Amino acid sequence: MSSRLENFINGAFVEATGSSDMDVVSPVSGERVAVSPISEAADVDAAFAAAREAFAAWKSVTPSERQRCLLALADKMEEHSDELVEAQHRNTGQPRRIIAEEEVAAGADQLRFFAGAARLLEGRGAAEYMGGHTSYVRREPLGVVAQITPWNFPLMMAIWKIGPALAAGNTIVLKPAESTPESTLVLARLAGEVFPAGVLNVVLGDGSTGKLLTEHPTPAMVAITGSVRAGQHVAASAAEGVKRTHLELGGKAPAVVFADADLAKAAEALITFGTFNAGQDCTAVTRVIVEDSIHDEFVDLLAAEARKVTTGHSDDAKNDFGPLNNVRHYETVCTKLKNIPAHATVVTGGAPSEDATGFFVEPTIITGVRQEDELVQEETFAPVLTVQRFSTEEEAIELSNGVEYALASSVWTTNHTRAMRFTRDLDFGCVWVNTHLLLVAEMPHGGFKSSGYGKDLSNYSVEEYTRVKHIMHALD
Ligand code: NAD
Repeated sequence: MSSRLENFINGAFVEATGSSDMDVVSPVSGERVAVSPISEAADVDAAFAAAREAFAAWKSVTPSERQRCLLALADKMEEHSDELVEAQHRNTGQPRRIIAEEEVAAGADQLRFFAGAARLLEGRGAAEYMGGHTSYVRREPLGVVAQITPWNFPLMMAIWKIGPALAAGNTIVLKPAESTPESTLVLARLAGEVFPAGVLNVVLGDGSTGKLLTEHPTPAMVAITGSVRAGQHVAASAAEGVKRTHLELGGKAPAVVFADADLAKAAEALITFGTFNAGQDCTAVTRVIVEDSIHDEFVDLLAAEARKVTTGHSDDAKNDFGPLNNVRHYETVCTKLKNIPAHATVVTGGAPSEDATGFFVEPTIITGVRQEDELVQEETFAPVLTVQRFSTEEEAIELSNGVEYALASSVWTTNHTRAMRFTRDLDFGCVWVNTHLLLVAEMPHGGFKSSGYGKDLSNYSVEEYTRVKHIMHALD
């Protein structure tokens, strides 16, 4: 019998009040590993009440003390790395070493960045903008915030949400994705050992619980990472209460490859960054846009690299990447692969991994796609890369920018001035030159257009969890 998970409210695990449950399933075996409640209004009310009460004291805690708490949580993450990795592996099937390196170690580092940022928040300088009066700005926390996380990097997404919000002095009610709650619950327990009760609360549930969070009168802001559909719902419902929103809604990243690039290096990197986490990364390379003169040569290089990548083993130590996260997503991807348009060609992959029991999909490269194809326009969120050709810089920019998503992109060339033109003209929240997908805590992550708005990481994200107040003193 799998354990029934509990919400974390006011510093303790508590049973959800309702009787609705859902199974949490291992994407490696397809078997149930836990049972999660679908939290209802009473649970969400209790979490927001705890967060409201905690905010009354937490808002006055000094930046130095907030920093101390965040640093202590980072240390605890590292001390409990194995437990975090196991909890997350049960829900995602990601290779354990990748969770340890890319989410626990990186997450602890990001928390340490936010710990420092807590002490660096500032308003613009004080001055006499009107004769006889001094003005200055107070930067304040927003209050209680609601946060909703996705299933692709459950722990890292939780860190990106709680780090800036706590650094800025807010309290939180967070809902993890329905298929991946367990590492977030371990994180909440560790946070409960460091932060005052009620500062971080976690309620479990599906989109219906997410809706309750968004519609609740308490939060001053709702932050979500997930699909465009979920983001639109959040934004529409938050508009009713005139709440701030922070939306990170995925991407369809192009990688533009010129003939003068180091082609072997580019092919290896594009496969690495297109299949990392089974392509379930909103910045993953999904659209390779190649200069006409090297198209065939480069496709061969890509295919050779794709065949080196391993997945599909039940022993995750043998995998470069794990399964797709859940059966619904797996079926959607399999349907897309079955319906590849007749004008396109599958160069390698194109199917689920044969000897796997779980939701594994082979690295896939598809050429001959057209700009209007669903494979080019819509997020696949799988280890699937399409290849298109271009002959002029203008055409490369047009193909790159010609989708609704605008999160991340890269250009591969040794021509410096061309690279500069592309960093200006690629209409994405991030442009990499001769690399892709790499993130650092100090730099903002977030998109334009349908990819949403609001930045994760960096001081920008901390500022988004604050409000500015104008104070004016008469001098006589
Ligand atoms: P989703 O967007 O439905 O779920 C993300 C989170 O939002 C979950 O916690 C979910 O419970 C919550 N949610 C869903 N509907 C909501 C609503 N109306 N109000 C409030 N919260 C809500 O993700 P999905 O349907 O499982 O995935 C579909 C697609 O989303 C994927 O194929 C992928 O393209 C995209 N996706 C993007 C990211 C990203 O990092 N940007 C992450 C996961 C999924």
